[in-house]
Amino acid sequence: MSGESVKVAVRVRPFNQREKDRGAKLIIGMNGKQTTIKNPDSKEGPKNFAFDFSYWSHDEFEADEEGILQPTGSNKYSSQRLVFNDLGQGVLNNAFEGYNTSLFAYGQTGSGKSYSMVGYGPNKGIVPITCDEMFKTIQGNQEQNKRFEVTFSMLEIYNEQVRDLLNKDNPKGGLQVRQNPKIGFYVQDLKKVPVGSYKEIERRMEQGTASRTVASTQMNATSSRAHTVVTITFDQIIKGDSGETKKSSVMNLVDLAGSERADSTGATGDRLKEGANINKSLSALGNVISALADQSSGNKKVLVPYRDSVLTKLLQNALGGNSKTIMIAALSPADINYDETLSTLRYADRAKKIKNKAVVNENPVD
Ligand code: ADP
Ligand code: MG
Repeated sequence: MSGESVKVAVRVRPFNQREKDRGAKLIIGMNGKQTTIKNPDSKEGPKNFAFDFSYWSHDEFEADEEGILQPTGSNKYSSQRLVFNDLGQGVLNNAFEGYNTSLFAYGQTGSGKSYSMVGYGPNKGIVPITCDEMFKTIQGNQEQNKRFEVTFSMLEIYNEQVRDLLNKDNPKGGLQVRQNPKIGFYVQDLKKVPVGSYKEIERRMEQGTASRTVASTQMNATSSRAHTVVTITFDQIIKGDSGETKKSSVMNLVDLAGSERADSTGATGDRLKEGANINKSLSALGNVISALADQSSGNKKVLVPYRDSVLTKLLQNALGGNSKTIMIAALSPADINYDETLSTLRYADRAKKIKNKAVVNENPVD
């Protein structure tokens, strides 16, 4: 069956202080859909990649009165609003049409995953803008026969264990991942709270973010070594002459743990074990992506190893299933990160080949 490809975007951030202090050189270039990377230790020309979207957020910006970064001069800087317009608006439209969507951010620690997904301070990312717009649309609804139900849940996968970020009392060893023939893999006993406004979602996100497992690495003192998954369910219940029908959409918003290999962060001991497990989930994700890429290039016999990690179980629908999926690969601009950035670009390049089979989820209410 042919399907719709996973949409892939890449985004390059400004130099951080550490890179500036070390006199880092810019090795990323972008032109239209093209992204190039130059090996700083070689005379060879830059390597070329093409993605659905290439976002330049490296320079030519300025904070406005509210502290929101806006493009200056050449208009080349991609703001949070622009990224939302391209990617978040689609997520929102899908939700109203009854499609599942998944959005995930990939890249090494400090590359800008959380900035794009959640954002910082006034520079809100795709997830909060999407939620805000969703409730604006709900509140503007004029149709008397239509009502909406929205729920929110937030979990993290840490050392292959699932923790509910909205629940203080997580069982030792984490929540169980189970399988159901109708809905696939799911997390048993995960808290799913009804939300009636954008403010409520914002409050829940803050609550969830505050209870994340934070272990610092040398690369980024505040970075989480866990995968964070926010799930929003969006139901529209429509009253008709012959009873009610329900259109449902599940939005999975995934901020993946840093993709760097454990040794490049100087991790040892417990931290190394975490790194190894994180890499287990991420390498399982890589294997799933490769298998799906093989499948869509005609090799129907490949088995897709979804069961190899918690992450790939929970992302099964997002990858090759009933979902419209977007991946954002976050890039460091600096020469010192060449190896990791190249591997991120290769990962993103493979993800482009995945085909999903999204269908509208519309059923009578019984
Ligand atoms: P990650 O989640 O991948 O570890 P972060 O999103 O926390 O990385 O980004 C690291 C730093 O870079 C943060 O201080 C963030 O504000 C900054 N940053 C990332 N992306 C951008 C961007 N597109 N524009 C401006 N600053 C950014
Ligand atoms: Mg982060």
